Amino acid sequence: MQKADIIICSNNVFTGLEDTPMKAAIAIKNNEIIAIGCKEELASLIDNETKQYNMEDELIIPGFHDFHMHIMMGSILQNNSAKLFDARSAEEAAKILTEFAESRPDDEWIFGIGWDHTNWDEKEFPHRSTLDKYISDRPVLLFNAEVHYAWINTKAIETIQLTEQTPDPQYGEIGRDEDGHLTGLLFEHAIGFATEYAYKIPKEKRRKIFQSFLNETKRLGITSVNDLYGAKIAPNLRDDLEIFKEFEEKELLTTRIHFSPELKIDLAEAKELQTNYQSDKLSFSGLKQFIDGVVTSHTAYLLAPYKNRPETKGGTTYSPKHIKQLVKKADKEGFQIRFHAIGNGAVRLALDAFEEAKRENGNRDARHVIEHVEVLHSEDVGRFKELGVIASFQPKHIELMECEAYTARIGEEQQPLYYPIKTILDTGADIAFGTDFPVVPLNPMMGIYQAITRKDLKGNAWGESEGITLAQALRFYTGAPAYGSFREKDLGTLEVGKKADIVILNQNLFDISTEEILETEVKMTIMDGKIVYRNQKVPTISK
Ligand SMILES: [Zn+2]
Repeated sequence: MQKADIIICSNNVFTGLEDTPMKAAIAIKNNEIIAIGCKEELASLIDNETKQYNMEDELIIPGFHDFHMHIMMGSILQNNSAKLFDARSAEEAAKILTEFAESRPDDEWIFGIGWDHTNWDEKEFPHRSTLDKYISDRPVLLFNAEVHYAWINTKAIETIQLTEQTPDPQYGEIGRDEDGHLTGLLFEHAIGFATEYAYKIPKEKRRKIFQSFLNETKRLGITSVNDLYGAKIAPNLRDDLEIFKEFEEKELLTTRIHFSPELKIDLAEAKELQTNYQSDKLSFSGLKQFIDGVVTSHTAYLLAPYKNRPETKGGTTYSPKHIKQLVKKADKEGFQIRFHAIGNGAVRLALDAFEEAKRENGNRDARHVIEHVEVLHSEDVGRFKELGVIASFQPKHIELMECEAYTARIGEEQQPLYYPIKTILDTGADIAFGTDFPVVPLNPMMGIYQAITRKDLKGNAWGESEGITLAQALRFYTGAPAYGSFREKDLGTLEVGKKADIVILNQNLFDISTEEILETEVKMTIMDGKIVYRNQKVPTISK
């Protein structure tokens, strides 16, 4: 009779199969869950070697799975950048940056993230001259809160050799004033001019950056992630994979990585990556591409013109015809496709493309995904379910700005539904949650809290009726991303035969106030049957 390596029990085990937690014990052998039942039933699995952890009311859940993030870009920015979220003016942002730069005399580039002019007292785009007053000897690269545009200083413009003659990239814009002078703003793919230089980081430093990412994910109970590329502004995928693979071989990967490279018309590289990365911990997952930008810079693609800028509806990265071609070709080859689509026009275009592909290539278990879905036209609500398309939300984004930043830009006649989580859920479609790290921090508690409360930056509920239950939020952060990664057979719920990716929280989320969710900490993280994290602050009772 085989004996368990680990047995954990609690009065509150949320398996992901029921809406409420139950009293149970879980037995783990090697990297698998071999039994779940009451403590007495599992007694025969215990021998002298079995480690037992007896919880009282602490909640045990499947490991968190963040369905949308950017590992390396996020980690570079998370630990090596000035946080500008609290600035209320360009001047304030520049001051926060200066303090940060002084603490980092050896950094070649000074990074920052989180500024948002829509939250400033004067809601105008900033100018490079404000930065130059404070930092003129080192290049500065400051991403806005959504990481879709950036603000740089004159030194950066010189370093990357940007001139007034440099043409705009295919999807993007170099900020210029009326006289054609560079303002120091880079929109969408134009950010690539700067990141091409700024992300040149030595391998040893990138290893350290990745290790700090893993330390953070295990501390937060995140045992799986989806790492998305597809942006011209991301670090090089091959460089990242080299490091991920190295960690996997040394058995240092404490979170499973499912990555999606850029969707291109040429699928040769995708096929090669798909063949070469298929392990339990590091696997090719699908292909990602952008359709549009973001609402705050009027680059999200709308069905009708912006209310406060009637000359534009935003635009698409590629022509609708090309986007449909991309989809039909990759779909035919069996790839999962994930589209960044924020405006109602972009979401409709993604749905149209998936529909055409289905018609042409036949019905299959494709599990295509639309990312963000921030503005949906009411007529498109039912199409996710009809087409089997997963809606991928990052609930903490609701708090990035005030809802007025959207309602001032988008007219009511567009029948906009904002972050319509519950509306889509009610149609029976699949929904999955993530962070889009580094846009928001990795902590899943923040996303869960936001999905329930729907609070915007000012703390006002934004579309309260779109709020969901705790059990739903937990599932969208565990089982649903596993399904979205074609891993539902071995990940996502606590069931016999599944991989032992398990998290113990220090309190029962089902038994506390909504506000207390944010204070919840992880007590222990088990990934692939191994205890990869134990919180020293909260002792774990063990026998
Ligand atoms: Zn993203």
